[in-house]
Amino acid sequence: MSDRPTPARTRFAPSPTGYLHIGSLRTVLFSWLWARHTGGQFLLRIEDTDRKRFVEGAEEQLTSSMQAIGLMWDEGPIVGGPHAPYKQSERLDIYQAHAASLIEKGVAYRSYATAEEIAALNAEREARGEPKLLVFRNLPGIDDAAREAAGEPYNVRLSLKTTGKTIVHDLVRGQIEFDNAALKMPDPVLLKTDGFPTYALAAMVDDHLMGITHVLRADEWLPTWPIHHQIYEAFGWEQPVWVHVPQVLGSDGKKLSKRHGDTSVTEYIELGFLPEAIVNYLALIGWSYDDKTEFMTLEELIERFDLNRIRPSGGVFDRDKLLHFNGVYLRNLAAADLSQRIAPYLSKAGLISAEPTAAELAKVAEYLPLVQERIKLLSEAPELLDFFFVDPQGYDPALLVPKKGDPAQTVEVLGQVKASLEALETWDSPSLDKLLHDFVNQLGLKIPQVFMPIRVALTGRTTSPGLFETMAVLGKAVTLARISTAAAALSSASV
Ligand code: GLU
Repeated sequence: MSDRPTPARTRFAPSPTGYLHIGSLRTVLFSWLWARHTGGQFLLRIEDTDRKRFVEGAEEQLTSSMQAIGLMWDEGPIVGGPHAPYKQSERLDIYQAHAASLIEKGVAYRSYATAEEIAALNAEREARGEPKLLVFRNLPGIDDAAREAAGEPYNVRLSLKTTGKTIVHDLVRGQIEFDNAALKMPDPVLLKTDGFPTYALAAMVDDHLMGITHVLRADEWLPTWPIHHQIYEAFGWEQPVWVHVPQVLGSDGKKLSKRHGDTSVTEYIELGFLPEAIVNYLALIGWSYDDKTEFMTLEELIERFDLNRIRPSGGVFDRDKLLHFNGVYLRNLAAADLSQRIAPYLSKAGLISAEPTAAELAKVAEYLPLVQERIKLLSEAPELLDFFFVDPQGYDPALLVPKKGDPAQTVEVLGQVKASLEALETWDSPSLDKLLHDFVNQLGLKIPQVFMPIRVALTGRTTSPGLFETMAVLGKAVTLARISTAAAALSSASV
């Protein structure tokens, strides 16, 4: 068994139990890429049959995270499709009918033993030194026929095979043989007493009915895989291509968790990680194109993605590396595109209006090149750009004084430099560069003695974009006014 012929149908089948985590998104991405690579379809199915773990609003969170990242589905909630409904709680009759058909075939049975009765029987068996129950019918003290006649509640269990072998094939790990006699697993529940299916029944039935050709799922399902395999066999269905994707680890090699940055995808987006950077970086966790190429566009990823290159050893999520990817992607964005993406952050910080005008966007586009080299997250934009929009306030005037300088001398330098600048006619970066260097030389000063006070006066901080470019963009009037304000603040602070 190897790859099915293209096009493939893959799916993401989340349970609405919480946020979509950045680590789980990697496996989803692999499914999505494989569907796109083969020109097939990617489905979204909501597995909400475990009512105890159900979280209100989680489904909306999941769908909006997927949309924000740009991984749209061809069939599923919102978009519909030929196999609707795509929410398992709306398909109960389908699972019940399938469970009934397995009972009819004699490969599943109704079990009337309650959880308490099973626990009591197991306790007795343990006391006698016997192994726990694996089969849940014809149990001592339980008259199945009488309970059936009385219409008592039951669940439906699959009769697991106890002879022969279950031979399974996984695309990442190859063939694995399980000796059925050695499995020693309790017959799994397919349908619970409340008529809701378990994952084992619902997912297998849906994967089959929805024509899923490649089941990509986390490798935490490996231990129960023989059950899933046997459910396919019990129905007499052809197995899908199974792809157990190795888990994503933290940089310390341990299971990925919050402390490694495994938080919600929404949080990553809000911080200003770009969807394309996230997708590119995640694709490289446990998969590679040629062991060296790192930066790939979405089109290249789709073109190159190959299930056969998923590494069985898994991969590491390193938030710093993602941050690096994000910086590279941000630097490569065209100014107009970057301004559009940055605008919501500036609006939120009150630096531009909530519905930015064309003039405001043009300003943003003018300022951006000055910080594009340094920005790593969109959310850093207000901090990096605020002084372009508003006069710096609240900085300590002591910052104006360069190392080894003194306040009085700095006030004097600011006054002199202001006078020179006032006389400058062509206000652009090269002219400012020349003027300030000449000024330093004529007065026999050191560069920091002049540049630092101006930098702080204009920006309120000691690091900033290039000084001449900043002055050019701010304009003559604003530059001179800020220098005056700074000089006044410093002289009154040092009196
Ligand atoms: N609903 C299951 C989960 O969220 C899906 C597992 C699978 O992909 O088959 O874990």
